[in-house]
Amino acid sequence: MRCRRCREPAVIEIRRHNAGFCRDCFLHHCREQVRRAIEDHEMLRPEDRVLVAVSGGKDSLALWDILLDLGYAADGLYLGLGIGDYSDASGRCARAYAAGRTARLVEVDIPADYGFGIPEGSAAARRVPCSACGLSKRHLFNAAARDGGYDVMATGHNLDDEAAVLLGNVLRWSTPYLGRQLPVLPATPGFARKVKPLIRLAEREMAAYCVLTGIDYIVEECPMAEGNRHLGYKEALNAVEDRSPGTKSAFYFGFLERAAPLFAPAASAEQAGLRDCASCGAPTTGETCAFCKLLEKATRPEGG
Ligand code: SF4
Repeated sequence: MRCRRCREPAVIEIRRHNAGFCRDCFLHHCREQVRRAIEDHEMLRPEDRVLVAVSGGKDSLALWDILLDLGYAADGLYLGLGIGDYSDASGRCARAYAAGRTARLVEVDIPADYGFGIPEGSAAARRVPCSACGLSKRHLFNAAARDGGYDVMATGHNLDDEAAVLLGNVLRWSTPYLGRQLPVLPATPGFARKVKPLIRLAEREMAAYCVLTGIDYIVEECPMAEGNRHLGYKEALNAVEDRSPGTKSAFYFGFLERAAPLFAPAASAEQAGLRDCASCGAPTTGETCAFCKLLEKATRPEGG
């Protein structure tokens, strides 16, 4: 197979584009896809200070790399989750990347700063680990962006992630989630603007990007991921995509174009019911936000 752009031998085939690319043209293609996503959805302004949520995995490191290459003032934020060797290794990857690019990495360590790790915290709060982890990430990323004076938070959700979340939300008809499943969430009181510049790129392409640019990322799956519903949705979508390349992209971008606006009222209704958490002041639907409840249960003395 030949590269679609320069006709040199291709190193990667992308079936949904019916195209192959050589190394340099593939890297150009990835940057172009991010540039287009940013432009189409008005994600970033040239003067924005961007905080990239960096896990040490391929998606977030590739995103940080591409944003820096595109000239954005992008710092990284690494959140230590306290998940044993997995957290140690992912932190090393994030730090090594930052050092290699002389980029700024902000670090928040949940065990050191809040006194619990995700495995014990989720058990104490009787939540599945990914639920405790997800709500902690949302809360702490948002707080770091707000406190650090950043204009926008960028996350490495790729096309596979977004299509899988969409499938899960459709299967349950979770209308407020469908109303919020957008590539850009504007800033609202207490929340920083959030953007997902990798929506035009698939997971496999991000792994290839890191391999071809020499970015060292954590390859192992998080040990707490077992039973994560989204992995099942990804497998189902991969089976469909394998038979019919382009289906994931049509599913997700068709939703954005034709269905997402229908669910906007459900998301707005939820937004209107927000008030300040009595403990930390973050926006919440209840008296206390989910993170403060988790923190209280996770750090309660035994027998307390
Ligand atoms: Fe957190 Fe679950 Fe992801 Fe592990 S798999 S990092 S516990 S959300």
